[in-house]
Amino acid sequence: MQKKFSRTRSLKYRIINIKTGALKPKTAILIIYSGGTIGMVGDSSGSLVALKFNQIMQQLPSLNTLNVKITVISFPVPMDSSNMTYQNWIDIGYIIYENYHNYDGFVVLQGTDTMAYSASALSFILEGLNKPVVFIGAQLPISAIRSDARPNLITAIEIAAKKNGDDPVVPEVSIYFDYQLLRGNRAMKIRSSQFGAFESENYPLLARIGISIDFNYPVIRKCVRDQQLVFHETYDPNVVIIKLFPSITRQAVEHILEIQGLKGVVMETYGSGNAPTDEWFIGTLQKAISRGIIILNVSQCIGGKVIHGRYATSKLLQDIGVISGWNITTEAAITKLMFVLGQTTDKEKIKDLLSSSLSGEMDISA
Ligand code: ASP
Repeated sequence: MQKKFSRTRSLKYRIINIKTGALKPKTAILIIYSGGTIGMVGDSSGSLVALKFNQIMQQLPSLNTLNVKITVISFPVPMDSSNMTYQNWIDIGYIIYENYHNYDGFVVLQGTDTMAYSASALSFILEGLNKPVVFIGAQLPISAIRSDARPNLITAIEIAAKKNGDDPVVPEVSIYFDYQLLRGNRAMKIRSSQFGAFESENYPLLARIGISIDFNYPVIRKCVRDQQLVFHETYDPNVVIIKLFPSITRQAVEHILEIQGLKGVVMETYGSGNAPTDEWFIGTLQKAISRGIIILNVSQCIGGKVIHGRYATSKLLQDIGVISGWNITTEAAITKLMFVLGQTTDKEKIKDLLSSSLSGEMDISA
């Protein structure tokens, strides 16, 4: 059922139609340009400034050869992704929702720093998505001679436009980077100085890109015909991440859990979800849970999963009502927590939603 929504912020953006050499293109792609290194050029003083998108053809003459109709919607002020908030994720979701029926696929240009958070968030915001939403960025600006922006953008458009008969090949939120296509809510930025910035340790690649694009069909979400897109626009940012470390103090943990208005915590534990068994530590968590604070257990390891009860050091967490995040990434966990807290205040419903895979973000099994 179509959900009613009310936009509290009016979103102003610029629409730019790109003239490609395409004759009667059958496919239409919407590019959403939010900012990041990818769209930068050097100005006269050599500093990097955000590119105006109608100049893109000068940087990318090969776009002309794609038989695709391309439209670009640019954020009014392109931003470094380190400045993005949940409001910006909702804005991107809203642009896709509003234009959903006019395009075959969507490519989102964003900085890499928080791309895994945005891609995770969009996978929850756009429930029932049946079209490709491919996030891309670049480690070097599009104006740089060795830039990865050009191949990243061309391939992302190709992936977003790719169909099997009438059905899109990748009808989900993904990240394309350095010849790999990853599920968006499984990806992590793990490198800042190499072209291969992202990995998805707990989920296979959706595609590997070489001379041809080799899609890994069994692991790509299936297209469900006639499925309605539901746009969710409420997020609750009253959450924190606590990363445990040996010697973390009682004072630190107590202070964090007593933050005014706090509703949820992603707790990054060790190994397969283990934490200290000190009485003060378990007691402090237990008190927070009894005050209604949700605690979601996510491992600090990028591979493997939380298995409550495997060690005595995680059994106690399970006993006091900490929720297992299985093999979810921290990026997906924190965006999911904000999303779920924005949907309902019913504690049982919150626990149910956090314990289920809403959009392929985790595998539930020991
Ligand atoms: N700081 C930049 C950003 O995330 C880095 C990048 O574009 O990759 O916006």
